[in-house]
Amino acid sequence: MKPIDAAKMCTCRDRDCPNHPANHDQGCTPCILKNLTQREIPSCFFNLAGGTAGLDSFYFEDFARRVLGENTK
Ligand code: SF4
Repeated sequence: MKPIDAAKMCTCRDRDCPNHPANHDQGCTPCILKNLTQREIPSCFFNLAGGTAGLDSFYFEDFARRVLGENTK
């Protein structure tokens, strides 16, 4: 199987983030570790579920609301 280039696959727009795969050679691992530690969902999932507009946090609960189409906390 051909290796996946996480830097090309990633839809995260925060290129300044040290965990973004464009800034190291460890793929998604640093991003996933950070998200697991903080109980957050990676932005690529939010982008698939409608984006991050209007959000100021990215916790599991925020993602659930986004998927369900709820925009208020
Ligand atoms: S898990 Fe993180 S690094 Fe990997 S594609 Fe998603 S946002 Fe990008």
